[in-house]
Amino acid sequence: MSETFTSVSQEEAGFRDRERLSFDLDVDICIIGAGLAGLSVALEAARLGASIAVLEGRHIGWNASGHQLGTVMPGFALPLADLIERVGFEDARELWALSKQGAEFVRANATEANMPGLGLSDGVLEVSNVDVGDRLISRLQMLNEDFDTEVEGWQADRVREMLRTDRYFHGVHYPRAFQVDGRKYVHGLAALARRAGARIFEDTPVVSIDHSGVRKRIVTPSARLRASHIVLAGNIHLGAPLKRLSETLLPVWRYAGVTAPLGERLAEAIAFNGSVMDSDGVDHFRIVDGDRLMWASPETTWAVRPQRFAGAIKRRIRTIFPALGDVEIADAWGGATGQTVHGMPQIGQLRKGLWVASGFARQGMNTAAMAGQMIARSILWGDDRWRLFSPFELVWAGGVTGRVAGQLIGVWGRASSAAAGSLARYRERSRIKDREREARLKEANRAAGTGPRRPPPVRPRIVRPTPQPAPVPHADKIPDSVQ
Ligand SMILES: Cc1cc2nc3c(=O)[nH]c(=O)nc-3n(C[C@H](O)[C@H](O)[C@H](O)COP(=O)(O)OP(=O)(O)OC[C@H]3O[C@@H](n4cnc5c(N)ncnc54)[C@H](O)[C@@H]3O)c2cc1C
Repeated sequence: MSETFTSVSQEEAGFRDRERLSFDLDVDICIIGAGLAGLSVALEAARLGASIAVLEGRHIGWNASGHQLGTVMPGFALPLADLIERVGFEDARELWALSKQGAEFVRANATEANMPGLGLSDGVLEVSNVDVGDRLISRLQMLNEDFDTEVEGWQADRVREMLRTDRYFHGVHYPRAFQVDGRKYVHGLAALARRAGARIFEDTPVVSIDHSGVRKRIVTPSARLRASHIVLAGNIHLGAPLKRLSETLLPVWRYAGVTAPLGERLAEAIAFNGSVMDSDGVDHFRIVDGDRLMWASPETTWAVRPQRFAGAIKRRIRTIFPALGDVEIADAWGGATGQTVHGMPQIGQLRKGLWVASGFARQGMNTAAMAGQMIARSILWGDDRWRLFSPFELVWAGGVTGRVAGQLIGVWGRASSAAAGSLARYRERSRIKDREREARLKEANRAAGTGPRRPPPVRPRIVRPTPQPAPVPHADKIPDSVQ
């Protein structure tokens, strides 16, 4: 059921150098899942000197982590305003600062020396589908001043100089956010973790765990492990080892594709080199390889072959950038993200020595890195900042009913944001038409020598105060004898 379909080239990449666990092992920390979350814990904990085994049921980056777009932003999938409402201003600031540290962890790993050919480039633009530029100023102030995040506000004109479409209005530019080749990053992370001493075993699904004792037991089809700590980083696929935990995540499949080379017409339509995402979380795209467009947008709560979504991606590109016309989708892929009911990731200790790092939804690059650093430091240094995530409990995501509801909410959300976008564009068109009509009228009047009659000057009405007796200072304090 929970199948992830990958492009052939990615399958091939994943099948190289696989080592399967076929002997019993004792380690300090056993990590279940070799996605961004599991590998980030492995790297940090190995650097801090712990003995690590990562057990991966398929291969490194098999699911979402090996099929993402590599955009690295501060923050969480939950919008900042909602985060503040949920935990208050001070805790929201601390959580935000942690999310920024996660992004810096990625930047520090993704150097040319560590991961050659990753193509790190700076700058991410978040664009709005509706015309709410007036709300921009307070948001920018809050991000810059209260959340210590460098951002610039772009008016609609500037956004449209960069992106030739009338779909987007104002934008928020994050000059320190960045992007890398997301699909290569997860393999780079695995290589760094191995270099730091972690052992990664692929084709090794964990079928059960016993987390009751001080030394915990982990069972795989061909070997057993003992460890002082277990980190559950299996996302929606965790399954048997702790089924109830997987049930707190709503699986959402996100699909992406890359076009065939588009030549110069792409540069004419898109002049911005970084990632672009819209504020409703529908479209996410950027130019790759000079003249190809990489684009993620459709989401479902059921797994489908990504190729079936190639048409939807193509239509979405044509809707946003009509000048690009009919583009050919050269490759399409997808992965399942895990969404929590409250929108924040699941990070923390479930019981002594049993940790969870999951639920990163569509923003896993920085948040999974943050979780990795935090959990490794909690285990090895006693850092207890993971408690900041305690208000976000493990809430059952509703099983099949939850998925159906999630699909309907997703469809409704996309439809209402599309409606809001159309309304904003309609208003903009009528404003332009009004201005044109006024200009034509003025010109006609000037030519005819008529012009609108000036209204008689309005004389300001002066309201004169009626004379009042002068107040007596401190009248209440004057002794009766004097009055
Ligand atoms: C198309 C797409 C584009 C995206 N773009 C971005 C982006 O630009 N920026 C961003 O920040 N985020 C992006 N994301 C989101 C990001 O990819 C995810 O949030 C992140 O990869 C989640 O990582 P993870 O390690 O929690 O999960 P996963 O990648 O799902 O890894 C979990 C691993 O655990 C293994 N596993 C599960 N159970 C077991 C078991 N019992 N035994 C052994 N192994 C097990 C699985 O096989 C899997 O490999 C995107 C996602 C998609 C799908």
